[in-house]
Amino acid sequence: MTTKCHECAEEFEYFEPDPNMGLNKYLFIPRYCESCFDKQTEKVRQDIIIAKKEKLENDFWNEVPKELFHDTSIGRLNAIIVSTINSWKHGPKGLGMMGKSG
Ligand SMILES: [Zn+2]
Repeated sequence: MTTKCHECAEEFEYFEPDPNMGLNKYLFIPRYCESCFDKQTEKVRQDIIIAKKEKLENDFWNEVPKELFHDTSIGRLNAIIVSTINSWKHGPKGLGMMGKSG
């Protein structure tokens, strides 16, 4: 069978499941050709990496004890410290921050 890619609009062949399997054949029509599927997969992978990174950044700043740093504005901290904190990844090596709130 052939169908049209939702991304590049090229016609492409796809494998249709055996009708004897009792599956709804319309559920198996792919949306993207192989090349566009790979691009979509990579885009989703990148989005997940970005989302994870943002989550790490947010988690750190959310988990800083509020009573210690509740008046701290990230914009007023040393940029190198902020960048180190934001690029830190969860692992066996922890991360600590000391200093007066600003
Ligand atoms: Zn395509």
